[in-house]
Amino acid sequence: MKLSMWTYEGPPHVGAMRIAASMTGVHYVLHAPQGDTYADLLFTMIERRPSRPPVTYTTFQARDLSGSTADVFKTACRDAVARFQPQALLVGASCTAELLQDDPGGLARTLDVSVPVVPLDLPSYQKKENWGAGETFYRMVRTFAGPTTRPTDIAANSCNILGPTSLGFRCRDDVTEIVRLLSEEGLDVRVVAPLGASPADLARLTEAAFNIVLYPEIADAAARWLKKTHGMPFVSTIPIGIGATEDFIAEVRALAGLAPSDDEATQRSGRDRLTWYARSVDSNYLTNKRVFIFGDATHAIAAARIASQELGLRVCGLGTYMREFARELREAAAGYGVDALVSDDHLEVEAAIIAARPELVLGTQMERHIAKRLRVPCAVISAPVHVQDFPARYSPQMGFEGANVIFDSWVHPLMMGLEEHLLQMFRDDFEFNDGAAASHLHPHTADAVEDAAAVVAAATEDDTAVWTFDAEKELKKVPFFVRGKARRNTELFAATKGIRPITVETLYDAKAHFAR
Ligand code: SF4
Repeated sequence: MKLSMWTYEGPPHVGAMRIAASMTGVHYVLHAPQGDTYADLLFTMIERRPSRPPVTYTTFQARDLSGSTADVFKTACRDAVARFQPQALLVGASCTAELLQDDPGGLARTLDVSVPVVPLDLPSYQKKENWGAGETFYRMVRTFAGPTTRPTDIAANSCNILGPTSLGFRCRDDVTEIVRLLSEEGLDVRVVAPLGASPADLARLTEAAFNIVLYPEIADAAARWLKKTHGMPFVSTIPIGIGATEDFIAEVRALAGLAPSDDEATQRSGRDRLTWYARSVDSNYLTNKRVFIFGDATHAIAAARIASQELGLRVCGLGTYMREFARELREAAAGYGVDALVSDDHLEVEAAIIAARPELVLGTQMERHIAKRLRVPCAVISAPVHVQDFPARYSPQMGFEGANVIFDSWVHPLMMGLEEHLLQMFRDDFEFNDGAAASHLHPHTADAVEDAAAVVAAATEDDTAVWTFDAEKELKKVPFFVRGKARRNTELFAATKGIRPITVETLYDAKAHFAR
């Protein structure tokens, strides 16, 4: 047993649902207790999909357990095929149904339905959502691309894109961006899968020269199998960030037998604004700001490269909740001289953030909450995400436009340099003082200040450190965007030295200590 409040990933059958919901012509029959239909909301509310995901739940109840739940499952399969007429049927069990040992795969083989059935064996008590999605995609590819033989006249510039899924972080726009980029480079994208692909499309995967894996957690197993079985090489550089996008283009062009693109072409007719924006003098204040990065392995590793090589930030922590990619993450962390954090326990992540004392956190929805509580600026870089990270506007993470989006979304939470400077200079000014609300012309300014004070009081109410009145007053002189950090550092210093209460001297001793 493990006491859990937040989980970074759902059970593996949610991963299988993501594959079914990504594709066309696929239906998933999920042996699951009444109530598991909650997962529909992930698609209809968070992703704002306009239709129900193609999933039939058996929704057995307690009273069904005295009869044959296997019959409930078989009836659900027959009804789903008759009603939805899919090209393929996925069958599997959720956590509770796994305990019943009805064996959906075995049962489905006895069904004599008219469509191919792909049984899924997803161990819910050992594995998680991304593994479930990767395994489901792999099973689908094996079933439909397995029996095909490769044509002899395959064009060298033809490729498939593997990995984008429903509920994936910015997959919708990443695909648009990368397909456009590849066609500008003279590549011919044949199949994008699983997002938007049908089982018949999977059977065409072997007609391309090579594969491009955009999301390894989903498509790595399938791409390796296609390489082993059909001799298809694959590109696994993830084009997130300018450097990575250029490496990606170089790798793709080499595989397609195209000459390397010249320097002028890499300017991408002004589409890469990150490089200039990060070099412009206004970005000087970003230099060496400490950044803590956490997320799925792909996005966390890509973010660390952008932060350190393209924005001049200093990586002070790097981690992932995906144990399957711990090796890759450890290698990346070693390159920045930081310890890798591989954990799916948000309390461990919170402790690591506090210990690393970052000025910016890049993470998931969970780190957004943690950073808010710690009053540290934060931007979201990876799933799990909430509804606001399925935006209506075009907002890829990959390619050149993705880098532009990243620049804006990471930098905005930080104070703009000039604002930072002015706020320090005018912190006693009636308009710009620390307590002033967002708009000093707002009629409810006083209320807003009181609310903000109440929030701060609530956030610190369980703090055990005691501050003298003078020390609290002195702390208020510290600009508000670093005050939380100054408070935490001082309390940490006081706790290690056994100092109580915290006085003005402690505040300055702590400052000197951490400045060393
Ligand atoms: S079967 Fe699994 S996913 Fe469904 S409610 Fe139970 S624990 Fe949750």
